[in-house]
Amino acid sequence: MNKDPQSHGVWELTSPEAPRTEVLSGDVTADVAIVGAGYTGLSAALHLARAGRSVVVAEAVEIGFGGSGRNVGLVNAGMWVMPDKITATLGPDMGERLLALLGQAPQEVFDLIRAESIDCEAVRTGTLHCAVGNSGLRELGERASQWRRRGVDLELLKAGNAAAALGSTAYSGALLDHRAGTIQPLAYARGLAKVAQRAGARIYTGTAVTEIVPGAGATRLRTRGGSITAAKVILATDAYTQHVFPEIRDTQVMLPYFNFATQPLSDNLRQSILPYRQGAWDTREVLSSFRMDAAGRLIFGSVGSLRGSGQSVHQGWARRAIARIFPQLGDVAFESGWHGQIGMTRDHLPRLSRLGPDILAISGYNGRGIAPGTAFGRLLAELLTEQRAIGDIPLPLRDLTAVPFGRLREPIIALGAQLVHLVENRF
Ligand SMILES: Cc1cc2nc3c(=O)[nH]c(=O)nc-3n(C[C@H](O)[C@H](O)[C@H](O)COP(=O)(O)OP(=O)(O)OC[C@H]3O[C@@H](n4cnc5c(N)ncnc54)[C@H](O)[C@@H]3O)c2cc1C
Repeated sequence: MNKDPQSHGVWELTSPEAPRTEVLSGDVTADVAIVGAGYTGLSAALHLARAGRSVVVAEAVEIGFGGSGRNVGLVNAGMWVMPDKITATLGPDMGERLLALLGQAPQEVFDLIRAESIDCEAVRTGTLHCAVGNSGLRELGERASQWRRRGVDLELLKAGNAAAALGSTAYSGALLDHRAGTIQPLAYARGLAKVAQRAGARIYTGTAVTEIVPGAGATRLRTRGGSITAAKVILATDAYTQHVFPEIRDTQVMLPYFNFATQPLSDNLRQSILPYRQGAWDTREVLSSFRMDAAGRLIFGSVGSLRGSGQSVHQGWARRAIARIFPQLGDVAFESGWHGQIGMTRDHLPRLSRLGPDILAISGYNGRGIAPGTAFGRLLAELLTEQRAIGDIPLPLRDLTAVPFGRLREPIIALGAQLVHLVENRF
């Protein structure tokens, strides 16, 4: 994709082909124009088309080029912040409605995959949040009790049971969330695009929107080869926003995140690591994540970019970390490595905003965009087809305020991750 081997790694190598799309040439009209072909834009396109609206999606590069084609593939329930923090930020009514929506969002993803036979390595055996030391265990205990108060029973595994589920004794326990699972992320994005096209959505790739001109009753989106005129516009460009509405990008601080994939492991090793195929990550501040793909590759990731010296620092660290967590693997070779940027907002919650009378944007999933992107895409479609009111969406409409010194912080975060991994390499 985009001729960059560091962009989508194993997902590009193992995904079914993208559906056929064209570059926009000429002027088209639609009821709704959507900018960005990731989960949010594609889910919105699917539900709008199903509701009988004409929809055009403009994607600057390719389907799944942004976070949707590069992520770890953990279909999680809820956000990264604790449930009580969400209600403290949004107030009890909206906060609980958001938690209810996000709690059932993995179900929505897996139901859609099943109903539409999307070929994306979907496995719904839960995810494991792994505790590092006693402080990690306390954090997971607190998270479990906050969900339990909301009627959701997460399973807090003691060290022995966690070791059996992980194939590793490196952790002091784990929180098993049965609502969650894993997918091949790029395959899910391409599958969603196929389903949206079948429902009638028109998707143009290689079609960056370079200017948006609001007008009375119709907004014009200019591209290099043409234009889209639509009554309503959804901006679903998130952390990969370019050309238009830079405030969507500036309301987030970019956290770089890399992954390496091993070659497919032998049958014996495959059975010893994550035998139930749960996706996992840990409670460290500079966290590690790991999961298997359908062919038995271990996919191991952490914070950092693979640009410049990051490539060798993080690759060396990943090999050592794997050897420490899964000593049965010995010294592993990586088949591919890639990275992407995760947009983090100040309160770690997504931003819903109105950027003109007929222009809505949603962004800032803070590393939890598979299930939320799918669910919010549907909600925006339901809003534009008057099946629901704006107040039904459990996020406040907010102005996009840039994070102070956000862009300055980004190289510091990338360097900090390298330092942490360099230091860990020495011990
Ligand atoms: C390395 C990494 C790991 C992650 N791991 C997970 C995980 O395990 N689980 C999870 O739930 N989430 C994870 N995330 C987050 C998740 O991937 C994102 O939140 C989600 O993909 C966002 O989807 P989206 O559709 O909103 O945006 P994106 O998928 O980023 O799509 C935005 C699209 O807009 C296009 N675009 C931008 N500007 C324009 C323009 N002017 N004209 C036309 N098109 C434009 C871009 O090219 C891009 O394709 C991870 C993210 C990364 C980067």
